[in-house]
Amino acid sequence: MKIGILALQGDFIEHTYIISKLGAHSVAVRQPEQLEGLDGLIIPGGESTTMLKLMHEYNLFQPIKELAHSGLPVMGTCAGMVLLAKKVFNPDMNTLSLMDIEVRRNAFGRQVDSFETIISMPALGDEPFAAVFIRAPLIENSGPDIDIMGRLADGRIVAARQGNILAFSFHPELSNDSRIHSYFLEITAGFKSEDRKEAISKAATPVD
Ligand code: GLN
Repeated sequence: MKIGILALQGDFIEHTYIISKLGAHSVAVRQPEQLEGLDGLIIPGGESTTMLKLMHEYNLFQPIKELAHSGLPVMGTCAGMVLLAKKVFNPDMNTLSLMDIEVRRNAFGRQVDSFETIISMPALGDEPFAAVFIRAPLIENSGPDIDIMGRLADGRIVAARQGNILAFSFHPELSNDSRIHSYFLEITAGFKSEDRKEAISKAATPVD
């Protein structure tokens, strides 16, 4: 299994450690060619505005969008989740728009900039997940095709799935718990290489 980790900015390194620990191969993605042959892609936390700018500069925006449309499993964490959302508040931005969710950036204000809390996530089993939030975004609205995977105790949505796309408000790579990455690897295993070959080489060609 070959998992790409978008390595333009932010905390991509921690994802590579977990992916390797789980026995998959990780590739730092900085060039469109590095998207070829991937079984999945992780968009890490960081600063979504900067990452978006760099994705355009490095000609990665359009290929990633096309690969996701062709079925490539993509997991976005924190800023990565912002980049997947159809609509973003605070401020509005032109994202990859791959998930029918509306996301507010920096939704927790200054006082609770960072915190850790327990999230119940039935898809991962009975044991709750200890989630680390850092200037985190929140899913304020979600469309009918969204599976809500996790909520805060007050009901606010912090984890969601839409088919091959996963999004988390928090940083699963910072918890000593690899279940979210394992779950993502299970999804990538279901994504058959033969079906996507053509779509990938086409999408990995940079567009002007
Ligand atoms: N506040 C950042 C953003 O909206 C996300 C923070 C993070 O990824 N830890 O881009």
